[in-house]
Amino acid sequence: MDQNAIVSNAASGFLANNPYFSAGFGLLGVGAGLAVLRQSSRKLAALIRRQMLVTLEIPSKDKSYQWVLQWLSENSQQKVLQQHKLAKNQSALQQATSFETSAKSSSATESDNKVHEINEIKNETASIENSSVSGGKIGYFARRLSQATRPRQLAVQTVYKLHDNGSVSADFSFVPGPGKYIFKFEDAWIQVTRERESKMVDFTNAAPWETITLTTLNRDRNVFSKILALSQQHALEKQEGKTVIFTSVGPEWRPFGPPRKKRMLKSVVLDDGIADSIVQDVREFIGNGKWYDMRGIPYRRGYLLYGPPGTGKTSFIQALAGELGYNICVLNLNERGHTDDRLNHLLTVAPERSIILLEDIDAAFPKAPSASAAGGAEGHVLMQRDQQQQQQQGGLYQIHSMITLSGLLNALDGVSSSEERIVFMTTNHIDRLDKALIRPGRVDVKVYLGNATQSQVKKMFMRFYPEPKETSLELAEKFASKLENQQVSTAQLQGHFVTFKYDANAALDNIHLLLQKQ
Ligand code: ADP
Repeated sequence: MDQNAIVSNAASGFLANNPYFSAGFGLLGVGAGLAVLRQSSRKLAALIRRQMLVTLEIPSKDKSYQWVLQWLSENSQQKVLQQHKLAKNQSALQQATSFETSAKSSSATESDNKVHEINEIKNETASIENSSVSGGKIGYFARRLSQATRPRQLAVQTVYKLHDNGSVSADFSFVPGPGKYIFKFEDAWIQVTRERESKMVDFTNAAPWETITLTTLNRDRNVFSKILALSQQHALEKQEGKTVIFTSVGPEWRPFGPPRKKRMLKSVVLDDGIADSIVQDVREFIGNGKWYDMRGIPYRRGYLLYGPPGTGKTSFIQALAGELGYNICVLNLNERGHTDDRLNHLLTVAPERSIILLEDIDAAFPKAPSASAAGGAEGHVLMQRDQQQQQQQGGLYQIHSMITLSGLLNALDGVSSSEERIVFMTTNHIDRLDKALIRPGRVDVKVYLGNATQSQVKKMFMRFYPEPKETSLELAEKFASKLENQQVSTAQLQGHFVTFKYDANAALDNIHLLLQKQ
């Protein structure tokens, strides 16, 4: 035996007899065994998941994302409320029962009332337990499970509410935040996973990319289409009979507050025939896509409403949208960070069936004092506007919108789009507008809305004081005749009538107040 063999034999003998080593070796074996077991159980779980579970992924870019998120939140909020009510009922029931036992000796009617009350609570509890939101009749275990699996992490979603009087308030609603939770819909248990991708950003609005993933058992896969349909129906019901106002936020359109109640066309009193002729023109345009298409003309129509402030320009556009069942996209040209490209993009992606509104367009593009000196009207950048604003702000540096007039003109011409496009612009100063902006093709219909005419004064008076009819007409005529040749806007008239809302005679007697405001 050579020396090497002796050493190796001695070493192996030593290792074999060493209890620490054999224990370590054993542990190694156990560890490897566990790893194999873990890996195969993971594979098995993945296999079961693949075979038994089905998932639906909804990315934040998809329209249904907001619908589903909102539906999920309202569904779970309703559940929380129901569970709160169940807990309250339980304690009320305990109280009522103990009262009933102790009051057995007191008057019979009092006791009857308590029995009645107890029955009512029991009925209500039963109906909550049976209701579809809690997923049918749920037993103790299921109720516990559903309590434990409510979304624990909530995210706040602020919604601006625009009241009829024009004031704005904020409403907060809670939507499921990033994380996982389980809920029951009909007979299916569904896991919701809301994930936020930290490395991926939605390039259109610089918001983090998000997904909602719904997972359920394969056999329940049909609930997905039901949930999508319900979420959509739920979202659309909220909009039905209402006008949604969209504003541009970065490169996309977002609803501004909840949908507003439609404004009735007849609530805006314009001079005789004006409202009808605009409505007719827009209707004819909407129904004539083929005509434009066959002649290769861009399918767009522009309207300019001009005249002094408070004559109903904005109100009429709102009422027109309501009449047509359209929404309104308010394009704020002064928004920081806007560029020509973004403007073009916004006009291309404007939601279907919507009116694009550019309000007070003169403020965004004051006519250059010498357009030719500035290198031609269409090339003039918003330098003046920036300078004016900087002067107003005491020279403070601000990043302003970089939209050029030519950029706006290109976007309006809509080279890239054959979609229907209705654009309304409003201004108090038509003379300040660049000719290029309001030439035919960009503005096809120009309508002057002036201060109240005799006919408008009478109509508005009759709207505010309709009864009794004969006296109302007589007073309206007197009222109108006193305003002849006076410059009073319809908004001023409205203000006056609101001050004397219950008394037509007082409105007439105090007409000097209206004239004083001139
Ligand atoms: P403009 O856009 O011409 O400045 P608005 O439409 O913003 O005027 O009107 C301001 C307010 O005056 C609104 O509350 C509106 O209801 C009322 N108003 C103005 N003109 C009319 C009108 N012609 N008919 C009914 N209400 C009017």
